[in-house]
Amino acid sequence: TLQVKNLHKAYNGNEVLKGVEFAINRGQVKAILGPSGSGKSTMLRLMALLEPADDGAVFLDGLQIGTSNSKGKTIHHSEGKLAVERRDIGMVFQRFNLFPHLSALDNVALALISVQSIKRSDARETAFRLLERVGLADRASHFPSELSGGQQQRVAIARALVLKPHVMLFDEPTSALDPELVGEVLEVMEDLAASGMTMIVVTHETRFARRVANEVTLFDSGVIVEQAEPNEFFENPQHERTKRFLSHVH
Ligand code: ATP
Ligand code: MG
Repeated sequence: TLQVKNLHKAYNGNEVLKGVEFAINRGQVKAILGPSGSGKSTMLRLMALLEPADDGAVFLDGLQIGTSNSKGKTIHHSEGKLAVERRDIGMVFQRFNLFPHLSALDNVALALISVQSIKRSDARETAFRLLERVGLADRASHFPSELSGGQQQRVAIARALVLKPHVMLFDEPTSALDPELVGEVLEVMEDLAASGMTMIVVTHETRFARRVANEVTLFDSGVIVEQAEPNEFFENPQHERTKRFLSHVH
């Protein structure tokens, strides 16, 4: 189980997260919807330990991950420990952020070699299997500039999987793609969900949320407004805010 408890974050006095709380069981997929600026990306960055929270914490199977601050008291793990725990959570961004000077294969293999000190040939073998899994075995030696946006995003997913995370976070993974490339990325994500991966997906793709998510969440102004199972969320939203939001996306 992944638990987010009372997450707070402010930038220059501007409160972006105001006590976010939720839990997600292993193998479940949670879709997060919400207007621009509501704090969705900030929450994912905190969960991926890319930034510290001002207050609150994230727990994986009861163990707190990363740094935290509870009521003014900051608990800092050593950098080494943080590095180990960061592997438990993989993240895919809207922009693919591949290393431009590395082939698809080496983009995926890099963390194995640099973080886990695995032999280059073994790392490449593992990386190749992951590229196969996202349908890109025939593009392994291509550089990012030689790949379509959808292919680059699939490489980014393979790269995020390489350290065997327990949880995958996706921040609008298809928003930067041409419409005809969206499907191939969603398909890879759907396969991943079917394989039992625990996933949190910030997305505008309501059809994907309906089909793949176990639970859909509306985020607004740094808090969770509503969470429900997809049919309930889309067909019978309980909150005015959700109804208003859905009237714009449908
Ligand atoms: P979008 O749907 O547009 O991606 P979002 O829900 O992901 O929006 P965030 O990117 O989390 O929203 O931003 C929430 C608020 O926090 C915004 O007002 C943003 O300007 C602010 N913010 C985010 N990161 C920083 C930062 N590093 N420094 C200052 N302000 C920030
Ligand atoms: Mg965002």
